[in-house]
Amino acid sequence: MTTYPDSYYAATANRTVTYPTLEGEVTADVCVVGGGYSGLSTAIALQEKGYKVVLLEAANIGFGASGRNGGQLVNSFSRDIDHIEKHYGLDTANAMGNMAFEGADCIRGLIKKYNIDADYKHGGFFAAFTEKQLKELESKKALWERFGNKKLSMVGKADVSKIVNTDAYIGGLVDEHCGHIHPLKLALGEAAALVSIGGEVFEQSKVIDIKNISEDGNEKVIVSTEKGHVKANLLVLAGNAYMGNLEPKLARKSMPCGTQIVTTEVLPEALAKSLIPSQYCVEDVNYKLDYYRMTADNRLLFGGGVTYGGGDPASIKRFLKPHMEKIFPAMKDYKIDYAWGGDFLLTVSRLPQLGKIGNSIYYAQGYSGHGVNTSHLAGKILAEAISGEQSRFEVFTGLPHYPFIGGRAMRVPMTMMGAWYYGLRDKLGI
Ligand SMILES: Cc1cc2nc3c(=O)[nH]c(=O)nc-3n(C[C@H](O)[C@H](O)[C@H](O)COP(=O)(O)OP(=O)(O)OC[C@H]3O[C@@H](n4cnc5c(N)ncnc54)[C@H](O)[C@@H]3O)c2cc1C
Repeated sequence: MTTYPDSYYAATANRTVTYPTLEGEVTADVCVVGGGYSGLSTAIALQEKGYKVVLLEAANIGFGASGRNGGQLVNSFSRDIDHIEKHYGLDTANAMGNMAFEGADCIRGLIKKYNIDADYKHGGFFAAFTEKQLKELESKKALWERFGNKKLSMVGKADVSKIVNTDAYIGGLVDEHCGHIHPLKLALGEAAALVSIGGEVFEQSKVIDIKNISEDGNEKVIVSTEKGHVKANLLVLAGNAYMGNLEPKLARKSMPCGTQIVTTEVLPEALAKSLIPSQYCVEDVNYKLDYYRMTADNRLLFGGGVTYGGGDPASIKRFLKPHMEKIFPAMKDYKIDYAWGGDFLLTVSRLPQLGKIGNSIYYAQGYSGHGVNTSHLAGKILAEAISGEQSRFEVFTGLPHYPFIGGRAMRVPMTMMGAWYYGLRDKLGI
C-alpha cells in the first residue's frame, strides 16, 4: 500500500476518514484521476454544476505535491505576466493577468464554503537580497496592480524586521492577497467537501489503463484500476508529477523535479513570534529560492533547493539546515523533527499545461513549482470547459508547449545544467 511520506503534514492532519478501493464497475459523467488539488478542485466544480463525478487516487488523498508542499498561496504563474506578454503577446498576457489572482480566492472560497480547517493565515512576503531584486519587486508590484491586486506594499530595510526578523534582506514586497495553509488538511477537506455534495472518492485505486469505447453511438472512456473500472463520458487526468507514463503525450512535455522541506521541533512561542512577527509566509526571490513560514503549532517550516531524484531525510536536513541558520542563526539550537521531499512538474515554458486529448480526455498539469493557487484555478477552468464555457480554457490551450530536448534521457541533465546556471546567477547577483 502506498501512503504518505513521514512529513509534518501527515503527522498533524488528523485524518479520520479513509475512502474505499474501487472494485467492479462504477459509472460517472466524469472520472477524475488524481486526488491532489487539480483533481479535487475540478471534481468539486463539476459536481457543483450537477455532473456525477468519481475521483480515483492511486495512494491516499493528498499523497502527491498537494499534501507535501510549502503551503504558500503564491499569486500569478511561474512565469509572470510581463514574460507572457513578451513571448505570447498582449492579448494572452491580459487574459492570463486577469486570472493571476483567482486561485487564492478559489482556495479561500472553498475553505469558507465547506468549512475546511486548513490553518489558513493571510499574507506573504517576497524578500530581496540585492538592490536589483528590490527594483524587480517594484516592477512586479506595478504589474500586479495593473491586474487588480491592490494589496501590495513595498518594505524598506528599516521595516523588514516587522515582517521577518533577519538581517539577510534589504527589503521586499508584501502581498496581502497571498496567504498560507496546511496543505494536507486542505486536500483532505476538499475530498470531504466533494463527498458531501455527492461525489465519489476511491483511494488505493491506481489507474493502469484507459480505453475509449463506443456505446449506443456515444463515446465513453473505460478507466481501469487493478480491481475495477469506471465507465464515464469524460476523463480528467490530474496526476501531474506522479502520473508516470500513463499518458505518454503528457509525460513527454514535462519533467518531475524533486524539492524538499524540513520542519523544526516546536519553538518557544515568544521565539516563534519574534522570528516572523507578521506571521506571513516568506520566499526570497533568488532563482533557487528558499521559502518558509511558521506553522500553527510554532514550528519553522523551511523549504528550498531543487534536486533531480529522491533525497533521504538525513541528507535533506544536512542540505536545508544551513539555509535556515543563515536566515535565523538562532535555529542552530533547535532540532529538525521532520524532513521530506516531493515532486512538482516542470514544463519547458514554465507555464501550466491545460488541454484536451481527443474528444473525451481533459488534463491539467505542469505548474512548475507554483501550483497551490494555479491548480485551483485550473480545476475551475477545466470545469468551465467541460460545461461548455471554453474561452478561458482556450487561453491556456493556445500556449505552445514543447517536449524536453533530447527526450526522457536528456531531460534530467539539461535541467540540472539549468539549475546550476541559475544557482551561479544567484551567487553573482546577475
Ligand atoms: C515540496 C514541494 C513544495 C511546494 N511548495 C509550493 C508552494 O509553497 N506554493 C505553490 O504554489 N506550489 C508549491 N508546490 C507545487 C504544488 O504543490 C503543486 O503544483 C500542486 O500541489 C499540484 O497539484 P496536483 O493536484 O496537480 O498534483 P499532485 O498534488 O501531485 O496530485 C497528483 C495525484 O495524482 C495521483 N495519481 C498519479 N497517477 C495516478 C494514477 N495512475 N491513478 C490514480 N491516481 C494517480 C497521485 O498519487 C497524486 O496524489 C510545491 C511542490 C512540492 C513538491
